[in-house]
Amino acid sequence: MPIENDGVMIILSSPSGAGKTTLVSLLSKLDNFEISVSHTTRKPRAKEIPDKDYYFIEENEFERLIKNQEFLEYAKVFNNFYGTTRTPVINNLNKGKNVLFDIDWQGADQIKNKKLDYKLITFFILPPSKEVLFKRLSSRDMKDKLIAEERMKQFGRDLLHWINYDYVVINDNLDSCYSKIKCLIDAEVNSGSKDYDKDFVRKHVEKLSS
Ligand code: ADP
Ligand code: 5GP
Repeated sequence: MPIENDGVMIILSSPSGAGKTTLVSLLSKLDNFEISVSHTTRKPRAKEIPDKDYYFIEENEFERLIKNQEFLEYAKVFNNFYGTTRTPVINNLNKGKNVLFDIDWQGADQIKNKKLDYKLITFFILPPSKEVLFKRLSSRDMKDKLIAEERMKQFGRDLLHWINYDYVVINDNLDSCYSKIKCLIDAEVNSGSKDYDKDFVRKHVEKLSS
């Protein structure tokens, strides 16, 4: 059973480019919220700051962390390794801080299956349409159209995982999407009523799959 003063774990996953990193960054500005900074073997993007956006490490260092069982979860995504180290997460939760995770469905599954003694809320973020997603991916990875195309190819497979999350939220207007997530977190933490329409979500997923 979660202890009342402990922090809450909040996972945001999505098909690449739907906006979860942007949303996690906005949510982290709330009082008492911290981002879990992941380790990755991917190379930094132009605007990324080492040790803030990710701990960028070599594959042999990643393997050492696996061997030492330092990861709470880890996965291979788009040919690179990504993982969350356990100690900083547990320390923050024990201090009562809410921890935000920007991780894929494999990592979300691993954390769910661990059944830790902390409250867990999981969100899956979707784009309003495939066209908008492609635009977002292309503007983010401007130098490399191939990256956007590769990630679009993965979209249909990533989409299938929506069903395993507590909430699916559509990131059309950024402010509305942020407010929706914030309200759902508040409602979960304070056992309030939730404004959530699963039928609407299901129809949106059907539209994105067609
Ligand atoms: P993800 O972490 O899911 O891969 P990002 O947060 O990196 O996605 O967002 C992809 C791109 O889309 C970024 O350039 C970001 O600024 C932009 N973006 C995110 N949300 C919105 C939104 N609601 N409207 C317009 N652009 C957005
Ligand atoms: P990107 O390369 O765009 O930053 O991230 C690619 C994917 O890896 C995204 O779906 C992101 O959520 C996921 N990711 C980032 N960090 C982690 C992590 O620590 N663990 C897992 N499982 N996935 C991660």
